[in-house]
Amino acid sequence: MKSFVEIGIEGGFLKAIEELGFEKPMPVQEKVIPQLLSDEGNDIVALAQTGTGKTAAFGLPLLQRVNTKNKKTQHVIISPTRELCVQIAEDLKDYSKYNDKIKIVAVFGGASIEHQIKAIKRGAHIISATPGRLLDLIKRRVVDLRNIKTVVLDEADEMLNMGFREDLEAILTDTPKEKQALLFSATMPKEVKKIADKFMNNAIEFTVGKKNAGAENVSHICYSVHAKDRYLALKRIVDFNPNVYGIVFCRTRRETQDVAEKLMQDGYNADALHGDLSQAQRDVVMGKFRVKHISLLVATDVAARGLDVTDLTHVINYNLPDELEIYTHRSGRTGRAGKFGISIIISNLKEKRKISLIEKQIGKKIEHLPVPLGKEICKVQLFHVIDRMQKVAVDSAQIDEFIPEISKKLEWLDRDELIKKFVSVEFNRFTEYYKNTPDLNKPSDERKSRKDRDGGSNRRNTQQGYTRFFLNLGQMDKIRPVDLIGMVNDFTGIRDIEIGEIDIKKTFSFFEVDSKFKDELLTAFNTQTYKGRKVNLEISGKEPAKKSRSSRSDRRNRDGDKPRFKSGRKSSRGSRNSSEKSDRKRYKK
Ligand code: AMP
Repeated sequence: MKSFVEIGIEGGFLKAIEELGFEKPMPVQEKVIPQLLSDEGNDIVALAQTGTGKTAAFGLPLLQRVNTKNKKTQHVIISPTRELCVQIAEDLKDYSKYNDKIKIVAVFGGASIEHQIKAIKRGAHIISATPGRLLDLIKRRVVDLRNIKTVVLDEADEMLNMGFREDLEAILTDTPKEKQALLFSATMPKEVKKIADKFMNNAIEFTVGKKNAGAENVSHICYSVHAKDRYLALKRIVDFNPNVYGIVFCRTRRETQDVAEKLMQDGYNADALHGDLSQAQRDVVMGKFRVKHISLLVATDVAARGLDVTDLTHVINYNLPDELEIYTHRSGRTGRAGKFGISIIISNLKEKRKISLIEKQIGKKIEHLPVPLGKEICKVQLFHVIDRMQKVAVDSAQIDEFIPEISKKLEWLDRDELIKKFVSVEFNRFTEYYKNTPDLNKPSDERKSRKDRDGGSNRRNTQQGYTRFFLNLGQMDKIRPVDLIGMVNDFTGIRDIEIGEIDIKKTFSFFEVDSKFKDELLTAFNTQTYKGRKVNLEISGKEPAKKSRSSRSDRRNRDGDKPRFKSGRKSSRGSRNSSEKSDRKRYKK
């Protein structure tokens, strides 16, 4: 393997990359750098994914070939998104830290064009641009590409996917014939080949890694579920992987926002990244994800493009993309920088064919696994707690003085009981949530019949220690679970009453309350009015007053992921007592 000096990198650039920790050229750099530094260098078409070192491969020689005596633009790099375009410019600035006469300007849509025009007028030897904004600047005669030496198309397949073909053709038509052209793409569909054939001469073609292949160190797992169980499956997958740091890919902005909101409500460190957010909002989310304040980024493909994070543990396909090539992009975001990664697909039972097409495309088998059962998840989480406990640093200086008092308080517990209690502090929320949850791998009709068997009939069984009430208010009165919890608080004046399942129907509701408080509730509710209507609360062993209004199916039990509410916590946020929040939301419909 050659060194950077041997392939022609010199002076300040060598020093700068040494400081960045680049010891040896990466394969793409070994190929591209000498071509770009030679006067008769060829055009290049490289099949290379992000993470292979391609920015330095084209960036270093372009910088080294800048003639700082000439103020004109000499090289242009075109990439699909603002994030990538800015990142390329930033990388180039890092490499040219000791050659500060070189001027690099990033131009991209969605930001003030006036500022960018001013920056270009101050001098831009290298422009890093997105296609639309570059074309705009050419039309305004701010940018002139008629004398440029090099044009680089980065992530060409993405640019075409995003509908930039016409813009690219218009830009390339404006460049001189004798320029050197480089095209980088993670995949090589026909449209990319067409651009290469039309605008490049005698291009050297090569592949970094395997052609059209998923990254070597990524394994692929598929969980098949009913479409309606997708979100529950996602939660189980995340809970089954306690150290997950990954991107959850959704198809639409709306789905992205929806999934992220649900995850946040369920107490996960998640956030959304999609095109409906302002650039400033996107920057904040990406910043938080980079520093791992967020461990799950729910994103659309377009929005996630510019994000350069090398240590993702997982990529989760909440939905499969319409175009198979996008799957390669998604999964290529994990397993980088020599690390191992997992790409997970949550697929619908009807998507079998798509999965086998993806297998062909990535040249690898996708492992089909059953969605983890509640019990399996609890086991993983339990050992995760133990692992954390083993590794946690103990600050004796702060704790030691309290130990005698604590020991005294706990002396009635033997070792096993003590361990059980400490572990349960952290672990109970999982057992609580996953207790009685269904096997998502079973067909839903089988699940229902099992539940019916367990329940004995369509009528639900009230949980032990709870009394089930009938209330004459329902969806038509705009009652939501939070309102009901509020009424329990406000009418009785007692906080912290345990509330069990809430079931809000069209014109009435059922809810369970700790039996200790049943008399207080009956007295308190039956003297109240709500929005002008007299409130009527009854114990629901009896049928509701207007029996005919409730169909049998209306009273059917819900699925097994049962919520538990505590009235005093009505507005608490941020805990990870997940079941409460997501299920509470389900009642909102
Ligand atoms: P890229 O494919 O250009 O996005 O680069 C992926 C990552 O590899 C970036 O974080 C670069 O800073 C880093 N990198 C590029 N070239 C080298 C090299 N020769 N040695 C070590 N790291 C590198």
